[in-house]
Amino acid sequence: MKMISFKNKKIIVFDLDGTIVDLAVEWRFIKRILSQRYSKIYGEECEFKHISACLDYVVEKKDERELKNFFKILEEYEMKNINDSNKIEETIFFINNLQLFGLPRDSKLAIFSLNTRRSIVKSLELAKISDKFDYIIGREDIRKWKPNPDGLIKIKEYFGVENKEMLYFGDLQKDLRTGKNAGIESYLINELKELVNKKRESMNLT
Ligand SMILES: [Mg+2]
Repeated sequence: MKMISFKNKKIIVFDLDGTIVDLAVEWRFIKRILSQRYSKIYGEECEFKHISACLDYVVEKKDERELKNFFKILEEYEMKNINDSNKIEETIFFINNLQLFGLPRDSKLAIFSLNTRRSIVKSLELAKISDKFDYIIGREDIRKWKPNPDGLIKIKEYFGVENKEMLYFGDLQKDLRTGKNAGIESYLINELKELVNKKRESMNLT
């Protein structure tokens, strides 16, 4: 396994759910709501495994107005239990102590998540780390979802950096594929957690 190195990394990008916090969202319930709405509006059945696939259908129809309604529904249900989400302590420690991990002084943090912007912003506020982030790409900011690399490419363009100056952390294989598709080094958050725990042990902080 390749060791994580922060040398020359200027932009560290994080996924949200499963990476910084664990959201208390009933995804299966939301899927049903979206599927029912899709059938009602378009008069067709909408079989999909992931919420992204359902949104793909709406994007394909070039129905931007309805897409925004879908985003609103997602937002509503993500926000419903936002106060019950759990913080992923190691990630938050890392974000609050970047200098301990040898990150360059001018490094910046960003989010690329398929959660809605409002729940991303709220989650960061609840974890008291919203001031640490310079840029957020959420569900509404793109039209092609992970593992499509568009979100990471937008972040790269925003900061005007090169691929090799970026790192992406997520909790799913899909996140790693997203990084790969963007040509950006990416790691599972478990690897960062391990690094954080080792660092804390060595500093007697546990
Ligand atoms: Mg995730």
